[in-house]
Amino acid sequence: MIIVLLGGPGSGKGTQAKKLIDKLGIPQISTGDIFRAALKEGTPMGLKAKTYMDKGELVPDEVVNGVVGERLTKPDLAKGYMLDGFPRTLPQAQSLGKILETQGKSIDHAILVDVPDKELVARLSGRRTCKNSACGAMFHVMFNQSKQEGICDVCGSNLYQRDDDNEVVIRERLAVYNKQTAPLIDYYETKGSLRRVTGVGPIEEIFAAIEKVLK
Ligand code: AMP
Repeated sequence: MIIVLLGGPGSGKGTQAKKLIDKLGIPQISTGDIFRAALKEGTPMGLKAKTYMDKGELVPDEVVNGVVGERLTKPDLAKGYMLDGFPRTLPQAQSLGKILETQGKSIDHAILVDVPDKELVARLSGRRTCKNSACGAMFHVMFNQSKQEGICDVCGSNLYQRDDDNEVVIRERLAVYNKQTAPLIDYYETKGSLRRVTGVGPIEEIFAAIEKVLK
């Protein structure tokens, strides 16, 4: 099963992606995670991506399409996978469509986790992420506090605030989302693969709604 997760920054799609991959046993491909890992390793691609990420802008399509194109050839994807944070522009969606076509595959579900903009700003500015990239658990200073302040409940590592989770950058990320990524909603609707789920409410309820659309 091939799933695309769509939703604004802070919509909770990353949290839902982690729950879904546990449930379905398929890998998650998050382009944001790939760029953060590359940056941590100090690769040229990671350093290039950082210049865009710090401003809340999108990394150029050629870079992203190259990274994803390479990832999609790996053998661990045979049973399917979930794309989180990709595609984010129409050219990316078209590139993905072409790659899948050559592999004789197609997207089964494009799930939109739908959250109003003003809620997204409140959520992102309080978000705290686990420093251990293998864990990546997310908490919130108001809505989902860790048991011990600054410490991950799951693996015990420190929590941090992502560089791009400050209000100025958040507003830019939202503007970019509405302009460049929101058109993908129509794109997948036309193809008959869009599944809308409201992203407001308890995490478990949202997850139940996603499971329902997958059936
Ligand atoms: P995320 O972790 O998905 O919120 O991504 C963090 C940042 O990485 C974004 O704000 C972009 O700068 C960059 N990024 C991640 N995925 C993409 C993508 N598919 N296209 C362009 N830029 C991306």
